[in-house]
Amino acid sequence: AKAAGRGTYRFFEPEMDTRLQERRLLERDLRQALAEGQLEVHYQPLVECNSEALLGFEALVRWRHPERGQVPPSEFIPVAEESGLIIQLGEWVMRTACREAAKWPGDQRIAINLSPVQFRHADLAHKILTIVEQTGLAPERLELEITEGVLIEDTEHTLATLSLLKSAGIRVSLDDFGTGYSSLSYLQRFPFDKIKIDRSFVWEMGRNADSMAIVRSVIALGRSLRITVIAEGVETPEQLALLQSEQCDQVQGFLLGRPVPARDLTQLMTDAETA
Ligand code: C2E
Ligand code: CA
Ligand code: CA
Ligand code: CA
Repeated sequence: AKAAGRGTYRFFEPEMDTRLQERRLLERDLRQALAEGQLEVHYQPLVECNSEALLGFEALVRWRHPERGQVPPSEFIPVAEESGLIIQLGEWVMRTACREAAKWPGDQRIAINLSPVQFRHADLAHKILTIVEQTGLAPERLELEITEGVLIEDTEHTLATLSLLKSAGIRVSLDDFGTGYSSLSYLQRFPFDKIKIDRSFVWEMGRNADSMAIVRSVIALGRSLRITVIAEGVETPEQLALLQSEQCDQVQGFLLGRPVPARDLTQLMTDAETA
């Protein structure tokens, strides 16, 4: 009774207290969600820019909380990262998405996000290779999406991990390109197959000459380095038309398709076949 009374930090910093408490609750619930199978993977189309042909899907984790409803990844991924639950969560997403993709009729790619925290564990490459082998997915169909955060941490270890994965045929993409500090030097030092132009640039493209110039330069950069360029967050026909005229390689966004649960994929893939 005394602890909650006047004079504790709670009294002076109610906001901080609420935030911490909220975080702890979310962590507890997330642990339970993992144990009880409340998580789901949704799949968003990756599309060839000019032909609009379906090339694959990005796996995006979803959590339907029993009381709160859908909790966005932007809220629970940071909690998972801070608590270490991301290791278990990341492995679950990897296994689920690889198993799903292995069943698809075509050779569409599956792109999976990796958290920088997963890279801190020495056996990440081994774990991924084991999952790929167990699910029977052709390694060439797997793309790992990483952000600059990974590259800043432990360069030697990251480079070793990426090299190992690449030598198995797995592809690596640099996500959210342009939002970090030194993306350019990373392109030189790490063996990326693809760069994803962050959706903030795509979003501004039509209205802001600087954003358009940035998008154009990234496409040119990708071309000269022979790295595939994908633009994310494409929402309007105007944005798609601009990217097509700039000869961007691939696009992703609500215009081309929203993330959908696995059960809706068969229809999507049949439609793509008959289109
Ligand atoms: P991200 O990797 O940059 O993923 C793209 C995000 O943009 C997704 O949000 C997707 O739903 C959203 N998006 C796609 N097209 C459009 C569009 O046209 N307009 C707009 N406004 N948004 C679009 P989502 O699913 O909420 O995920 C947010 C972030 O959470 C992801 O950003 C990624 O960083 C993280 N995340 C999601 N799933 C996983 C996962 O399985 N593992 C890890 N480590 N992170 C994940
Ligand atoms: Ca991503
Ligand atoms: Ca992104
Ligand atoms: Ca992002």
